[in-house]
Amino acid sequence: MITTKSLNYENVKGYQFGYSLIGKPKLSTYIYFIDGLLIDTGQSKVREVLLDKIDHLSVDQIFVTHHHEDHTGNILPLKERFQCPVYSSDKCAQLMNNPPSLSFAQKITWGDRETYGNLIPIENEIKTRNYTFEIIPIPGHASDMVALYEPNEKWLFSADLYINSYIGYFLYSESVQQQISSIEKILNYDFKVMFCNHNPQLENPKQKLRDKLNFLETSFHSVADLYLKGMDEKEIFKTLKFKENWIVKLLSAGALSKVNLIRSVIKDINNSKKKVAR
Ligand SMILES: [Zn+2]
Repeated sequence: MITTKSLNYENVKGYQFGYSLIGKPKLSTYIYFIDGLLIDTGQSKVREVLLDKIDHLSVDQIFVTHHHEDHTGNILPLKERFQCPVYSSDKCAQLMNNPPSLSFAQKITWGDRETYGNLIPIENEIKTRNYTFEIIPIPGHASDMVALYEPNEKWLFSADLYINSYIGYFLYSESVQQQISSIEKILNYDFKVMFCNHNPQLENPKQKLRDKLNFLETSFHSVADLYLKGMDEKEIFKTLKFKENWIVKLLSAGALSKVNLIRSVIKDINNSKKKVAR
């Protein structure tokens, strides 16, 4: 089942696409359009519907916020349709030359994505006729992820920085410590609306980000305390009474899980120890 919805906020248009094999989609993706600029390209599972839905737009440039398959799933057909340059951060452009392979769960949720080696790396800002967007690195959820910020309009396109105040499962590649730093950094900017790619916040976006920050900090500290007392990941999992979503974990062959939250914190601690030792 594919569902679609649109959002209009000032001059920003948002298009939501949900896909699920059975029943109503639980997860969906937004792409945004503003003044000729298309931000992200959605998941390949909704390709035909997405292409049809935005066919009438005058897209003259595309920007991709990070390499995940629900943001890069339709670069090729969109590039073909609109014949325009496709930009990203330098790191994202590098990753898309040979993107990491996807788990079965990711493939059935979002669909696979093609390698795209022609992303044009840009830094600092991207301009449209009427707006200038600052490009702000916000690593953590993905190492290459960036946000776009329009200071005059106070719009923040936050990619996957928020998603939700509570996150049930993590990818092994995520860094909780970096996510905390990225949220702290973004909270210093003056924005009134947050165009999240999964869960846009048109009111009180800063409070939502603070809620997430609080969740991440609490999780980080409770895991770190137990790890530094000598517990291993299994003992920490038990002590914190974490519950695994086994269906997600099984289908993803372990790529998505709650235990990855613990692993990520342990990885962060060991990395900072290494830095201190250097
Ligand atoms: Zn993502």
